[in-house]
Amino acid sequence: MPKYKHVEDILRIMRNIEQVRNIGIIAHVDHGKTTTSDALLAHAGILSPKLAGEARALDYLDVEQQRGITVKAANVSLYHEYKGKPYVINLIDTPGHVDFSGKVTRSLRVLDGAILVVDAVEGVMTQTETVLRQALEEYVRPLLFINKVDRLIKELKLSPQEVQQRIVQIIKEVNERILTFAPDKEFAKKWLLDPAKGHVALGSAKDKWGITIPMAEEKGIKFSYFVEAYAKGDKAAIEELFKKAPLHETLLDMVVRWVPNPREAQKYRVPRLWKGDINSELGKAMVNADPDGPLVVFINDMRLDPHTKRLVATGRVWAGTATAGKEVWLVNAQKPNKILQVSIYMGPDREIVDYVTAGNIVAMLGLDDARAGETVVDIKYKDQAAPFEQLHYVSEPVVTVA
Ligand code: GDP
Repeated sequence: MPKYKHVEDILRIMRNIEQVRNIGIIAHVDHGKTTTSDALLAHAGILSPKLAGEARALDYLDVEQQRGITVKAANVSLYHEYKGKPYVINLIDTPGHVDFSGKVTRSLRVLDGAILVVDAVEGVMTQTETVLRQALEEYVRPLLFINKVDRLIKELKLSPQEVQQRIVQIIKEVNERILTFAPDKEFAKKWLLDPAKGHVALGSAKDKWGITIPMAEEKGIKFSYFVEAYAKGDKAAIEELFKKAPLHETLLDMVVRWVPNPREAQKYRVPRLWKGDINSELGKAMVNADPDGPLVVFINDMRLDPHTKRLVATGRVWAGTATAGKEVWLVNAQKPNKILQVSIYMGPDREIVDYVTAGNIVAMLGLDDARAGETVVDIKYKDQAAPFEQLHYVSEPVVTVA
């Protein structure tokens, strides 16, 4: 039995870009980013569902966790079916919390959408605002997950009506930031969160449930149901919420429905984020996410594989197809390199594959002269090559060791 039963499915679907989404989870510290990631990973069959909530699949190993299955992966490809159709959702790790080294911006660059996690009790905090602002500046569409609603009932003892008011208030606060920080007013309006449409989920990552308004209506789940369940401490009723509205399904449905596929996203992101001539062959291939065009990859992560001790470059393919043996030009380093191996992420491991097409996340060996933030292009197109907009960050070590 293959270790990850969905790898073949993922490879097949990846080649059909309409069925791909690139997302990340962003949050103020302690609002539940890790717990939410775990719930998603459990669904993908990468961790045992029993371990979700305890395992820390997107976190660094620490002494406590070394005995668990916790590994920091730069990306995990998830498989999800929505209305009977299969999708690959690349969940890209964004650095834990705000840092000014440029790591956040770099990882946001490879996403098209982000789930902003906000603690229902704390509401919008300074880092919520910072990560949301950074996402908007990278033309990453935000969706909202209001987490820890159990605390509103268990700790603040709010009534169903008060819970509702609190939720409305948080959405309003996030929307105000979207209007303020979206660099382009067209997107500010388009990306305002409308709970009635299903842009907002609320629930508890710890108890692994979450609902959107359309889903609650469809499944007949009322506010009073979960408020009463927590007020009474009714474990069976809370378990029922997980069965009726599992968080992974709610969030991944929301992502498929509202995060643009890579081709849609590249149409507006490439002209705004890439420095080159969008009318050149390279530019056109990027705008169209053309798998048959010249290769362009933006590297957001460089790290040593702890097993092979080789440098692994992870990035998003913006155009063309990454294959082993391809000669490439590193735009920032101004050096030629050769791709020696191409793989995709599955849980903590990488699976070697023959090729990875435009719109997807790829891990490559052989790009030893690259550092995070590098733009890699097919060497034949060196003359049209241009970097993504200059990243502003303080200097830092070239390599992070996984
Ligand atoms: P991160 O710093 O954003 O990654 O946050 P974590 O996922 O590590 O969560 C921070 C703390 O909040 C942990 O102690 C979690 O167990 C707790 N937490 C996460 N989700 C929930 C929830 O739905 N309800 C409650 N009450 N606590 C939660």
